Amino acid sequence: MKTAQTEGAGSNRRRMIDLRSDTVTKPSAGMRRAMAEAEVGDDVYGEDPTVEALQSKAATLLGKEAGLFLPTGTQSNLVALMTHCQRGEEYIAGAGSHIFHDEAAGAAVLGSISPVGLPLDGKGALTLEAVAGAIKADDPHYAVSRLVCLENTCGGRVQDQDNLDAIADLAHARGLSVHMDGARLMNAAVASDCPPADLVRKADTVSLCLSKGLGTPVGSVLCGPRDFIKRALRARKILGGGMRQAGVLAACGLYALEHNIARMAEDHRRATRMAEGLAQFPALKVIHDPDHTNMLFVAPREEDHDALLTHLAKEGIVFGSQKPSIRLVTHLDITDEDVETIISTVGDYYARSRQNLAAAGS
Ligand SMILES: *Cc1c(COP(=O)(O)O)cnc(C)c1O
Repeated sequence: MKTAQTEGAGSNRRRMIDLRSDTVTKPSAGMRRAMAEAEVGDDVYGEDPTVEALQSKAATLLGKEAGLFLPTGTQSNLVALMTHCQRGEEYIAGAGSHIFHDEAAGAAVLGSISPVGLPLDGKGALTLEAVAGAIKADDPHYAVSRLVCLENTCGGRVQDQDNLDAIADLAHARGLSVHMDGARLMNAAVASDCPPADLVRKADTVSLCLSKGLGTPVGSVLCGPRDFIKRALRARKILGGGMRQAGVLAACGLYALEHNIARMAEDHRRATRMAEGLAQFPALKVIHDPDHTNMLFVAPREEDHDALLTHLAKEGIVFGSQKPSIRLVTHLDITDEDVETIISTVGDYYARSRQNLAAAGS
């Protein structure tokens, strides 16, 4: 039997230990085989059986009627926004959420849709009060509030389900729809041991990334009601996302949904082990709570920040730096051994800087 270890690490000769993101994974041998052998057709004509199979598998997993395959999560979110909202309408989202902050204002640029950004709490959550206060009255002075966008996981944290559900209920009661940016929803499902469909029961539409922890080279799936997905097809066409023999790409998504969901528990376990291992260094502040999945954040002292990263880079270890913190993301291509290497290499840095200090002081 194949273990997750061979699945992820066996197919590439690794030169570095890359924890910048779970997007850096390379397709495994099994995934590449599935891609090479995929049955294909012209998907713009609706004739690609592998795309159809992926869309229907994703929709079933998420408890929705239909799915639509897209090249990226950004396009999937934008297609969702353009399908939910008409010109001059607005969507409400966390100001730090990906759909608000990290998608180059696509909804405004391409959809004439106005964004409303609300503060997120320390755990990445919108509050019910803030959302209630942001929904505008029906008044010709105002844009039409049309959609609330949620994110799970957010900053690698599993979101509180009662809070998500309460916000969705409020949105629906006020006549708005709800979109879930579930780029890393499967991490949340695995971490909370809950079927993904249950997490998004109250969301009208869900976007799921296949290219994050699920380990494909490309792809996202947008799922929702059948009539919504039919309209989304036009938005995807407008954005240039209608692909032809896309079954080659859908095949890796299908493979990922079949092989790479449950194993995410290993990524979570490794993130926890790394957090524990790094917590022994007093000069490093480690942020990793029980709601964190495959991410942890560390904050070195300001004077150590660059030197620590340089030291690690020399050893072939790369982290994502957004001063003052550093993000570490575990994924398919990170092994137990890598985790121990990282901990000991950070240890070397602090041991050496202590020696330097002692030498300077003597
Ligand atoms: C990565 C990500 C996206 C966008 O996905 P791309 O495929 O990189 O365009 C959207 N939302 C969240 C929360 C993400 O992490």
